[in-house]
Amino acid sequence: MDKLIQGVQMVSESGELIIGDVGITGNLISEIGNELNAGNAEIINGNGLFLSPGFIDVHVHLRQPGGEHKETIESGTLAAAKGGYTTICPMPNTRPVPDTIETLTLVNDLIAKNALIRVLPYASITIRQAGKEQANLAELKEHGAFAFTDDGVGVQEAGMMYEAMQAAAKINMAVVAHCEDNSLIYGGALHEGTKNKELGLPGIPSIAESVHIARDILLAEAAGAHYHVCHVSTKESVRVIRDGKKAGVHVTAEVSPHHLLLSENDITKDNADWKMNPPLRGQDDLEALRAGLLDGTLDFIATDHAPHTAEEKAVGMKTAPFGITGLETAFPLLYTNFVKEGIWTMKQLIDWMTSKPADVFNLPYGKLEVGAEADLVLIDLNKEQKIDRSTFVSLGKNTPFDGWDCFGWPVTTIYGGKVVWEDGK
Ligand SMILES: [Zn+2]
Repeated sequence: MDKLIQGVQMVSESGELIIGDVGITGNLISEIGNELNAGNAEIINGNGLFLSPGFIDVHVHLRQPGGEHKETIESGTLAAAKGGYTTICPMPNTRPVPDTIETLTLVNDLIAKNALIRVLPYASITIRQAGKEQANLAELKEHGAFAFTDDGVGVQEAGMMYEAMQAAAKINMAVVAHCEDNSLIYGGALHEGTKNKELGLPGIPSIAESVHIARDILLAEAAGAHYHVCHVSTKESVRVIRDGKKAGVHVTAEVSPHHLLLSENDITKDNADWKMNPPLRGQDDLEALRAGLLDGTLDFIATDHAPHTAEEKAVGMKTAPFGITGLETAFPLLYTNFVKEGIWTMKQLIDWMTSKPADVFNLPYGKLEVGAEADLVLIDLNKEQKIDRSTFVSLGKNTPFDGWDCFGWPVTTIYGGKVVWEDGK
């Protein structure tokens, strides 16, 4: 045994909080029990701390290649490690887009050189994410694509989506969709509701998202494909996904921390730190998302970490780019506002950030068991601290949560048996 985490709190399979020891040998969890024999192992004192499998985020934007002024693979994976994540999946809306063997290999080489944790890149569905020509999905799978998505934009033509789903189904891969019908966006900057009218800004109606999801669920049924919906934001989207699941379609879905915590009513002024795509919706949408997560319509939580520079965000909501950062704030926000409030159990939150995304995408990670990869995060549940964007290690400081008082801060992140982030070091 190389490392022994002693006297740490964990969630048992049945959901109880238990105290125990976890031994690590090489890159694997080798023992879990009580008062394990340390031998020559390095001791990690878990007293007063909580241990979770490292978090998994299947929706992040690392910006590299092409957007290194916003984020790099190095800064983004450090932010992930600081937030307790050990596996992340970056979106392909980079320059170049990983849409061929050559461009995906370029991305894989950058990851191999710069990533501090496991990074499993998406490849695009269509060449340059332009929606006109399908990428060679089978080739991209062979070269390490995690799944296929044109995230950042929706695939506009039903026929293109249908053919991509058929191709993906043949090779047993998921099609992951940013759902947005361009003919229904109307140049919107935030939700078409009450706040956009107060601020005199164009709105994005809910149907821009929900219509695409309804279309795609029917296409996925016809193609026999696994269809995964990104960042669900509207109550109508939740309804059509629920209906799709009931009908036996292989549809899965994710929801972001910000859509679970904020609505358009929380926006007080024209400030682009509150601008993301999809936008913050109404209070009834927020409640439908919370209910959808609890009843299993929405499968897990993903951040849609989307860093931008302060200059890019300083120009007001109408023209600033969409997106907020999420990796460094997700767990403390969700633990404080849901688990500590008694709305969710700890097991629910941990599952939505670890085993559920792993199960949806057949990843062998996200579980605290002997023989599993030693991807772990130690969290101080009693540590209280305000979110302070100036302390982010991400290059992106764009968040609407600056100043929020949170508990539950990760203190040590272990990836493949090695400490990759330690608070204060
Ligand atoms: Zn998106």
